Amino acid sequence: MKIIRGYKTELELNNRQRTHCLKHAGAARFTFNWGLARRKAAYEATGQTLTAIDLHKELNRLKKTDYPWMYEVSKCAPQEALRDLDRAFANFFRRVKLKKTGKLRGKIGYPRFKSKRRGVGSFRLTGVIRVFDGHIQLPRLGRLKLKERGYLPTGEVHILSSTVSEKAGRWFVSVQVEEEIPDPEPTQGEPVGVDLGISRLAMCSDGAVYENPKALHQAQRKLRRLPRQLSRQQPSSRNRGKTRRKIARLHFRIANIRRDALHKATSGIVAKTKPPALRPCAVVLEDLNVNGMLKNRHLARAISDVGMHEFRRQITYKTQWNGSDILFADPWYPSSKRCSQCGQVKRKMPLSERTYRCEGCGLVIDRDLNAASNLAQLHLESKPNNSTTASSVGRAAQDAANACGEDIRPNDIGQISQKQEPNSSLRSA
Ligand SMILES: [Zn+2]
Repeated sequence: MKIIRGYKTELELNNRQRTHCLKHAGAARFTFNWGLARRKAAYEATGQTLTAIDLHKELNRLKKTDYPWMYEVSKCAPQEALRDLDRAFANFFRRVKLKKTGKLRGKIGYPRFKSKRRGVGSFRLTGVIRVFDGHIQLPRLGRLKLKERGYLPTGEVHILSSTVSEKAGRWFVSVQVEEEIPDPEPTQGEPVGVDLGISRLAMCSDGAVYENPKALHQAQRKLRRLPRQLSRQQPSSRNRGKTRRKIARLHFRIANIRRDALHKATSGIVAKTKPPALRPCAVVLEDLNVNGMLKNRHLARAISDVGMHEFRRQITYKTQWNGSDILFADPWYPSSKRCSQCGQVKRKMPLSERTYRCEGCGLVIDRDLNAASNLAQLHLESKPNNSTTASSVGRAAQDAANACGEDIRPNDIGQISQKQEPNSSLRSA
């Protein structure tokens, strides 16, 4: 099985190299903004659309006269920035289409200019990229020292591109590698339903619990204090600069803690190291519209914290690489209102109720565990007929409930309506 994988690690740059990297990142940002302005102007004037190729030709002419400083950086940096611009527009047009069909509730997001204030940014290079034990060799930049030895793949690997980026004063390099991995052995374990939560990160139907790390809450408490301090400091003063860097570092730390927790949870669920008999044959997630949920301001921060998008992205590729199926339940499937033992559907199940008590069979069970079990059962129900997906089973369950006159319109976080916008990478399972 051929996969594309990214490896990211920290660089140890000297002053000269740092300046050179800053120039590249600056050129990439400048080109992106220049291209965006050109595309806007051309469209408003004549209605024509300039592609990355048109813009690159134009830029190469201007280099000689207007932007001679661009010769100091690799030609890849502006070239790839224009490709990014093309992708930004492609994403924008895709969302416009979705909006027209009513599948998108969120913002359409016209491409925006990149601001220096939002950080140094990054640049991407292609061409001859070589990885050695302790350093990486990039076009124009030469050999750059790595902080960690032996993490980046060396030897006979096909490197597609390399991206250098800056975050909170630290520099990183990532390489995109095309790899051949052995086809995964089919898994035979029980299917696992995963209920993504707010108070806890994830609850699995097999009883496994993944909590949000404590360090995350601590860092967030600190983060609430610092902007107040910043606003009391003199503009453009030295101390204000210090506070701003502190805030950037804290944001970075929070992102790292969150990513680490998500990776641990998704890896734990997929259970790569266990024998195939103990690994889940399928992972069932709720197909939630994260965009729609973010509009609810009470829940917004908590949801973005949990990083549901990132969880889905990780679990999707990890199941694919390790031989499990991935299924998404219909957003209307009453996973938190349905009894996982007898199948009775409750009329109401407010978020504040942490325990599910069934009036039919008397089952008393943790709310999240009940939801996760319902999701896992969705896979079993979809089994006999291969053409039936988990989604359609969920829809059938909903129709059945409606037939009994039950109002199961989603009104809590477990089942907010609206379809997730189709995302090929998430659905290609
Ligand atoms: Zn029951």
